[in-house]
Amino acid sequence: MEDHQFRNAMGNFATGITVITTVVENEVYGMTANAFTSVSLDPKLVLISIANKAKMLTHIQQSKKFAVNFLASDQRAVSMQFAGQIKDAKPYEFDWFNSHPVIKDALANITCSVKSEYVAGDHTLLIGEVTNLQLKDGEPLLFYQGKYHELKHVE
Ligand code: FAD
Repeated sequence: MEDHQFRNAMGNFATGITVITTVVENEVYGMTANAFTSVSLDPKLVLISIANKAKMLTHIQQSKKFAVNFLASDQRAVSMQFAGQIKDAKPYEFDWFNSHPVIKDALANITCSVKSEYVAGDHTLLIGEVTNLQLKDGEPLLFYQGKYHELKHVE
C-alpha cells in the first residue's frame, strides 16, 4: 500500500479540530491536532497522538500537562496558525484556565495531566487524565478530505 492511499483513506474520516496547548517555564505553545479521542469515563481519560518530530511532544514531556481546545466554526485561522500554515502570524493571546493556557472562545477547554505515553510508529500516544473543563455554546470546525467544513444539520 502506498502512503498516499493510507492518507486518503484516513482523510475520509471526518473529525473536529483541536488545538493542544501547554506551558513550559512561562513559555506558551500550541499545536493543531485532529487525532483526539475520549477514552474512559472512570477515570476521565482522553488520548492525543503527536508526531515524534513535533516540538509539542517535547514541550508536553517537560510540562507533563496539556489542554485540548475544541475549535469553533469561525476559528479556521486559529487552526491554520497552530499548524504553522500562516506566515508571519501575530502572537496569539491565550486565555488561562486551571493554570493552563487555553484558546479563547473554543467550544471546550479540557485540561489534563499526562497519565501515560506510548510510542506508536512515528507518533506518540499521550493519555491525559482530565483535571477540569469548561464549555461554550457554538458550532464546531470540521476537517474532511484535507479541507475545513461546517456542520450541516439533517432531520
Ligand atoms: P511549531 O511548528 O513550531 O508550531 C506550530 C505553529 O503554532 C507555529 O508555526 C506558530 O505559528 C504557532 N504557535 C505555537 N506557539 C505559539 C504561540 N505561543 N503564539 C503564537 N503562535 C504559536 N500533528 C500531529 O502531530 N497530530 C495531529 O493530530 C495533527 N493533526 C492535525 C490536524 C490538522 C487539521 C492540521 C492542519 C495539522 C495537524 N497536525 C497534527 C500537524 C501539526 O499541527 C503541525 O505539524 C504543527 O506545525 C507541528 O507543531 P510543532 O509542535 O512542531 O511546532
